[in-house]
Amino acid sequence: MSVPVVAVIGAGYAGLACAVELARAGVHVTVFERSHTLGGRARVVHKDHHWRVDNGQHILIGAYTELTRLLRLTGGSPKQLAHLPLTLHVPGRLHLKAAAALPAPFHLATGLLWAKGLSWADKVAMVGMMRWLKKRDFRLPPEMTVSGLLRETRQTPAMIELVWVPLCVAALNTPAEDASAQIFANVLRDSLAASASASELLIPRVDLSELFPVPAARYLATRRGKLRTGNAIDALHPVEGGFRLEGDPGSQPWPHVVVATAPYHADTLLASTGHCDRLAAQIDALPHEPIVSVYLALGKDQKLPEPMIGLVNGATAGPAQWAFDRGQLGGPEGLMACVISASGPHEALPRDELILQTHAQLERHLGRRLPSPEWSQVIVEKRATIACRPGIFRPGIRTPMRGLWLAGDYLESDYPATLESAVRSGVACAQSILAELGYTG
Ligand SMILES: Cc1cc2nc3c(=O)[nH]c(=O)nc-3n(C[C@H](O)[C@H](O)[C@H](O)COP(=O)(O)OP(=O)(O)OC[C@H]3O[C@@H](n4cnc5c(N)ncnc54)[C@H](O)[C@@H]3O)c2cc1C
Repeated sequence: MSVPVVAVIGAGYAGLACAVELARAGVHVTVFERSHTLGGRARVVHKDHHWRVDNGQHILIGAYTELTRLLRLTGGSPKQLAHLPLTLHVPGRLHLKAAAALPAPFHLATGLLWAKGLSWADKVAMVGMMRWLKKRDFRLPPEMTVSGLLRETRQTPAMIELVWVPLCVAALNTPAEDASAQIFANVLRDSLAASASASELLIPRVDLSELFPVPAARYLATRRGKLRTGNAIDALHPVEGGFRLEGDPGSQPWPHVVVATAPYHADTLLASTGHCDRLAAQIDALPHEPIVSVYLALGKDQKLPEPMIGLVNGATAGPAQWAFDRGQLGGPEGLMACVISASGPHEALPRDELILQTHAQLERHLGRRLPSPEWSQVIVEKRATIACRPGIFRPGIRTPMRGLWLAGDYLESDYPATLESAVRSGVACAQSILAELGYTG
């Protein structure tokens, strides 16, 4: 039996997860990537020789089991992720830390008992919402938004401002009033309501290209896989025996092709086949949300009280929701990564103003003057992820054409568009291809 061949378009987390899983089974995979940097929307950005930063601070949770499995499979070291017990720390306002050593639900209950900054009414509201969700087996009306859920379960203003809204934008990258309560409930089910390790925060200590894409590329190289960087595929043409890829230097038809690009690139590739117009139009109509990252290098002696702190945001409070101390997370000392998830009034601000406002916001939270940044950088990802709204159409891995597959964070999933949903879709796609090939390696 000859060894099957598969082409994967896109070396983001989804495409590489798919390629690794195929290569593991013995399939010869070729990955085409338009950029010279691996990782797609989770990649290192060489903005400056000294300050090597990512296109945005990423955070994972312990429940993201497929990505951590792939990291182990491709030889990544567990030391590449900082494992922190779930901690919500808003300086001067809130300190809630789950008790790492205790089993669920005691890790959270104990953390809640000792939490500073929450009244009994707040704590009762939080427990009440978790119980409400559990009673419904975490199944909610499909049209319910996160704001609707918070109203329904009578959450207090402090819980909404300090806990639920920041967690919602961090996890779903969608404002609470637009965000799907079902997807939010899924994340809570698999983190807060699961084991202490599932609710741990995992924060990369290496850059995002180094975390998985580079080890994945090495893994492919040892299994006769090929990675063609700087090689965009411009169109897909159905031919005898599969598909011809416009931009592929080889002339062989590919019997199986995986489109593992962001949705806003997948639609054009699908449309180019001439047989997937409806699917391409549905993907084209997906709404997106931005993420803005403000990096501030404040000097070696500057530290945050925790590796990650919450920031109260809003029209007068400042634009960012979270700040990460990269110095405590394997990065350069004094480098802060401030995150502004989802759409909002900050989108109208020029970059210099964003830097000034974020700097002032940090000063207010820390209650002290901070030095002016030695270096700063604003990275705007206008279409960071799809908007995780109720009832949104998320396609499956299959397309109307035999041999043409999809992988990506935007596909149907229990989870929001994240690294985990990206790699899960990649692995699911590989498994379906292998099943169709009847190939077990
Ligand atoms: C700023 C920011 C912060 C985020 N924070 C988090 C977080 O904290 N936690 C989390 O889990 N997720 C986070 N995400 C989401 C996460 O990054 C994405 O869900 C994930 O990276 C998507 O991976 P993907 O493989 O589906 O798509 P992509 O990463 O978009 O990969 C697609 C790849 O295809 C390539 N490509 C496109 N067209 C072509 C073509 N024609 N030919 C060849 N190659 C092509 C692209 O160059 C790209 O490398 C964040 C995203 C951003 C932008």
